[in-house]
Amino acid sequence: MLLVSAAAFSQDGAEVDLPEAAPVPQELPERESARETPPPEEVEPESDEEAGEPQADETQQLPEEQAAPLPSPRPAPPATPAPIRDTAEESVPDEPRTTRKSTTMPSEEIACRARLRELGVAFEEHPPQSEPEGCEMAHPLTVSSLGGGVELEPDAVMNCAIAEANARFVRDHGQAQATRHLSSRIAAVNQVSGYVCRPRNGTRTLSEHAFGNALDWGAVILEDERRLDVRAYRRGSPEAIFFAAMRKAACGPFTTVLGPGTDADHADHFHFDLAERSNGSTYCR
Ligand SMILES: [Zn+2]
Repeated sequence: MLLVSAAAFSQDGAEVDLPEAAPVPQELPERESARETPPPEEVEPESDEEAGEPQADETQQLPEEQAAPLPSPRPAPPATPAPIRDTAEESVPDEPRTTRKSTTMPSEEIACRARLRELGVAFEEHPPQSEPEGCEMAHPLTVSSLGGGVELEPDAVMNCAIAEANARFVRDHGQAQATRHLSSRIAAVNQVSGYVCRPRNGTRTLSEHAFGNALDWGAVILEDERRLDVRAYRRGSPEAIFFAAMRKAACGPFTTVLGPGTDADHADHFHFDLAERSNGSTYCR
């Protein structure tokens, strides 16, 4: 009101016409309409890789970037601001393709790396990944060993959480099962997919691989140099019992466990991921 009174008179006291000063509410019809347009892939067929994984967040209405054609299949990563890194204490290299030019590593990422070191995991920082399709990793690692003398072959890019989950799984379950059923220990895990920017097979929904939140095991190499490909084995054979035990043990440490028998896409590898699910549920098939 004070503003209006002051503006209603010129400096010499003459009344002047009030300009239409009332600000017009700024509407953003384009953004709004973009938001209201649902992504076209609401209905997922069941026969895809990671098919049937409950997508608790499929109704998520706020993809991080309006222009991204594919919504994130999991809750958007925390939209942390990107303060300028002022020291070189974190060795996350800048990378031209990232939309976050330089970020301070969140405390949980730092803590996760400390746990990896305790587990003996061998890793290096990897440049952040951000693709127009929506694939994104803010703090990737290149992992070459899962600790305890277990190599990861070949090296794979993944997030810290899935690296830790795999390291703990091998240490806490894998070695015991290999010793018990195969009379040897795991010397290496042959991985066939870490970070990959792609949708789940046959869909437009991004795979957990697109966030580095999944690792596929193609084979286990034992200390006695046997190589056990992940596949169906003769029922009752030590290999079949070992892999069945591994698979059962993996459900929980990983929220998604798929493999031979799940569908044709998983006939020759285990898919382990840490997809976020409501109520801490798991999807193991
Ligand atoms: Zn996979």
